[in-house]
Amino acid sequence: MKVCKFGGSSLSDGRQFAKVKSIIESDPDRSIVVVSAPGRRFSKDTKVTDLLYLSHAHLKYDVPFDNVIEMIKERYTAIKNECHLSFDIEGEIDKAFEGVSKKTSVDYIASRGEYLNALLMAEYLGFRFVDAADWMTFKYDGSVDFAKTEEKLKDIVGVYGHIVTPGFYGCLPSGDVKVFSRGGSDITGAIAAASIDAEMYENWTDVSGILMTDPRIVDNPHSIPRVTYAELREMSYMGASVLHEDTVFPVRNKDIPVNIRNTNLPEAPGTIIRERFEENNDIENKRFITGITGVKDFSIVNIYKSHLENKIALLRKVLGICEKFGISVENIPGGVDCFSLVVPTRELKPVKYDFLSALREECTLDDAYVTDGISLIAIVGRQMAYRTGISGKIFAALGENGINIRTIEQSSDEISILVGVYTEDFNKAIRVLYDSFAR
Ligand code: ASP
Repeated sequence: MKVCKFGGSSLSDGRQFAKVKSIIESDPDRSIVVVSAPGRRFSKDTKVTDLLYLSHAHLKYDVPFDNVIEMIKERYTAIKNECHLSFDIEGEIDKAFEGVSKKTSVDYIASRGEYLNALLMAEYLGFRFVDAADWMTFKYDGSVDFAKTEEKLKDIVGVYGHIVTPGFYGCLPSGDVKVFSRGGSDITGAIAAASIDAEMYENWTDVSGILMTDPRIVDNPHSIPRVTYAELREMSYMGASVLHEDTVFPVRNKDIPVNIRNTNLPEAPGTIIRERFEENNDIENKRFITGITGVKDFSIVNIYKSHLENKIALLRKVLGICEKFGISVENIPGGVDCFSLVVPTRELKPVKYDFLSALREECTLDDAYVTDGISLIAIVGRQMAYRTGISGKIFAALGENGINIRTIEQSSDEISILVGVYTEDFNKAIRVLYDSFAR
């Protein structure tokens, strides 16, 4: 059995619904369908979930919200008509909002987007509708009750075989609805896949998998065929946004592969995410790297003190001062009588002068000063580990293109190399690296 989660952009109108139907019908193993609320149809459009949060705000401040409900109704009625469905969705919307008041929880209202969409999708596919509140169970403390959730979903799937269920929310022991954080249908899909020991968790979205780099910087980057969780972590930490952070752990624990797919291009194989892959394939062997990501706006705090090698307590003191000022340290490149702290500018900036005087006073330094305008670029790839020549290729590519490298760091598992460059070189550096490894 496969669990298929469809995001808001895959369900924004009747045309998108039709694509989902043909995807589901093309593989009989696609038996559990998890849906988001209708997303944007065009760039200036509003997501139904945002309209729902807006209606809650109206309620809270006693502002009439009939026009917002009308907008929500129009979205579902359009889908119903485009898909020639008969379900009384208008009546269902009226029911959902009947008796809501200031006291109605925001979670209940926000959850209706998924609930209503699942009702329509269930009729469209001819699958059984199952309310998420009937299986996705939270404990009193708000954490997921995995044991109960698993038991309930297994029973339901055992009875109905094929189901459509809303993502994003579940039920507290009190019977109240609770939602995950925004984008949380990804988590519902992962928990469903883990609960029924699915052979695959397919996450259908509007891109053909995870891209090797930022498409705003490189035109049409390749998508990554296969990526490990460790690589993904390095990439998302350094700026790539892919899946909801909490998505991975339920499927990772059970070693269920996650496949990111494109509803608008279903023939593309997308990206498979797994703990490990036995052997590299040809593309991976040719490219060596999996992805290139980066984050802007770091500062380097340069610290000088002669005979640093004898001052064992210095680093502890310096880090203690960082802690006191709430500055997180990204990395610590070093020389003989100097070392540097690479820190986020947004954390350093408001406390910069006090921080520098604390350093100078408490650590009796020879000098300390800050260089701003640094960006970090991560070159990530499990194929880089224990292979010679990769860093040589990175530095040659950057050097030949006149890009100065300000800092260098390699993780000890050798799956990522981090270079710091001036922010004005950031885009160029990513393009140069992409061209030399991925073209
Ligand atoms: N509809 C919710 C949101 O917009 C949840 C989701 O789509 O995953 O955040």
